[in-house]
Amino acid sequence: MKILLIFTGGTISMVRNPATDALRPADMDTFKATVPELEAGEITVDMLSFDPLIDSSDVVPENWALMAQTVYDNYDKYDGFVVLHGTDTMSYSASALSFMLENLHKPVIFTGSQLPVGVLRSDAKENLLTAIEIAAAKDKQGRAMVPEVCVFFENHLFRANRSTKQNAEHFEAFASNNYPSLAKAGVHIFYREHLIHRAQEDAPLRLHVKTDPHVAVLKLFPGITKDVVAAVLNTPGLRGVVLETYGSGNAPSFDWLYECLKDAIDRGIIIVDKTQCSAGRVEMGRYEVSLPLMKAGVLSGHDITTEALLAKMMCLFGELGNDNDQIRRLLDTSLAGEITCSDEFFSPTTL
Ligand code: ASP
Repeated sequence: MKILLIFTGGTISMVRNPATDALRPADMDTFKATVPELEAGEITVDMLSFDPLIDSSDVVPENWALMAQTVYDNYDKYDGFVVLHGTDTMSYSASALSFMLENLHKPVIFTGSQLPVGVLRSDAKENLLTAIEIAAAKDKQGRAMVPEVCVFFENHLFRANRSTKQNAEHFEAFASNNYPSLAKAGVHIFYREHLIHRAQEDAPLRLHVKTDPHVAVLKLFPGITKDVVAAVLNTPGLRGVVLETYGSGNAPSFDWLYECLKDAIDRGIIIVDKTQCSAGRVEMGRYEVSLPLMKAGVLSGHDITTEALLAKMMCLFGELGNDNDQIRRLLDTSLAGEITCSDEFFSPTTL
């Protein structure tokens, strides 16, 4: 079994800078020396490092493209891939790769840690070694057990585009609030095979690395002014907006808000309604206060995460250019398991 470890940076690989006492990225050799287990097991682990290694706060869509391209270029040589990544933007990168790698038949498992690998109480080794085991796991038919882009952290395996960083301090840093975990690691790793997505068997892997970053997040709050909304919606070059609304997708029923949104949509900007709640879905039309959004042409984000929605928009705008009809259709479709259609939402089979 052969796994490629793609090293991008993050706390997992950091050392303390004695001059400032702050953590900064170290290098691959220092990391290797701290984890001798990588060379001791039955799984062959090759490593490939970004140069320079980066804190994930510095990650930009070009880095997503490089990660996806690296998987694509090495696809036939390995059984699976583990991406070492900072936790801060891990869910954005992992979501982006779930859209960039269409028809994936091999695991791409993102992981990192809350404490650097050299620290005694670090969660790094456990996360890394289990992620490698998951990336190498096969089912009874000899197929990859989890042929998806995932995030593995503190014993839970999540679908990448359902994950979100929920805690800055706890080892249990990630959650997947609208989709159950795909596996749970204890003494044994217990896979929930019925929840794992499989691409059509004979469909070849396709790479889509073009992105367009002209998107924005507009979070509503009581007292938000027309000037703030108008400033965001009049950003030069803007293509898409994640509108973070209340509850099941509600917004203030002020005329000026409707007019600003309608005007933006008439100018070709795509606006998607995403609830500010960390769990649950948008149900436009349930309350009267969401009707103006529908009338203006705002799309439902269903139960998508903000991270996945931003990444999906950037990928669709990059790949499809100005084909807004197609982009609107695909935003309303699950491409990589990122949204749940209403009739299967939290049905007993998915719990
Ligand atoms: N700032 C770090 C990063 O995201 C945090 C971490 O890795 O946990 O790269």
